[in-house]
Amino acid sequence: MRTFDHRRAGTVDDAIGLASVPGARYFAGGTNLLDLMKSGVENPTVLVDVNRLGLDAVVRTAAGGIAIGSGVTNSAVANHPLVRTDYPVLSQAILSGATTQIRNMATVGGNLMQRTRCPYFMDPRFERCNKRYPGSGCAARDGFNREHAVFGTGGPCVAVHPSDMAVALTALDAVMHVRGPQGDRTIPIGEFFVLPDFHPERDNTVAATELITAVELPPNSGSSRGWYLKVRDRHSYAFALVSVAAVLRFDGDVIESAAVALGGVAARPWRVPAAEALLTGRRATMEVFRCAAEAALEGAAPLSQNEFKVTLAKNSVVRALTTAAAG
Ligand code: SF4
Repeated sequence: MRTFDHRRAGTVDDAIGLASVPGARYFAGGTNLLDLMKSGVENPTVLVDVNRLGLDAVVRTAAGGIAIGSGVTNSAVANHPLVRTDYPVLSQAILSGATTQIRNMATVGGNLMQRTRCPYFMDPRFERCNKRYPGSGCAARDGFNREHAVFGTGGPCVAVHPSDMAVALTALDAVMHVRGPQGDRTIPIGEFFVLPDFHPERDNTVAATELITAVELPPNSGSSRGWYLKVRDRHSYAFALVSVAAVLRFDGDVIESAAVALGGVAARPWRVPAAEALLTGRRATMEVFRCAAEAALEGAAPLSQNEFKVTLAKNSVVRALTTAAAG
């Protein structure tokens, strides 16, 4: 039996101090971490409980956006009036994930820090996994890789990031607020998740002792229309084969700006600027959407079992854009 300490933090700074112990892990809803501990993938020395730090509110910012505390549960975010009204794509993304019971426990911070569900990573009996043991190889590359990446597949790990919330936050240009021993800093979501090029064991740019305190969203212009489309093997309690978060802002019937992010295709949510550029300044027609979908999947390099994801993602982009534009 592996033993560990459980320490309840009273303040953010208290939590950061407790997390300075080697092998410490922050613990909130525990919906991912406890699974990994049971399987032996994670073996923390200390669980630093961050459930009572007062990071459990969604508030309007002075800039007119919102700030979501990292301890707010997924259910509370998805059902919050400000989120449902101003950022429905985020609400849709969260409600497409997991189950009601899990969403009631899982928190925003934990959702962003969750690990990949690559089956070789989740089961320590598989010895070849660069994410668990850098340098050991990647069992998925020549094994079961139907659910894996189609972008960024040249590196040591081909797993995908599992969060739906993160895909919507990427399309919404979220900014993470983080505090650590050196103080506070902010990280744009485009710089938060990392590809596994040099450090496959890392998923993001947050240090072990740093704690996400809030996620800030910029103001919604009021003229935007969004949609989150998730395609998966079964209707609920399944991770995305492909997902698309599409946010379109209109000036009359012309697309003034577009934000499109894909999920289930890379180690991080995959923003597609080429597609966004193609949409901007154009009318919302099927022909434009099809061109954008082609641009979005430009450069995809599928693995032996997941070439179908390229076509699936193109069709999903068209459908998400069509639905978003219809408002
Ligand atoms: Fe490990 Fe990544 Fe390969 Fe999965 S894809 S076996 S997580 S290295």
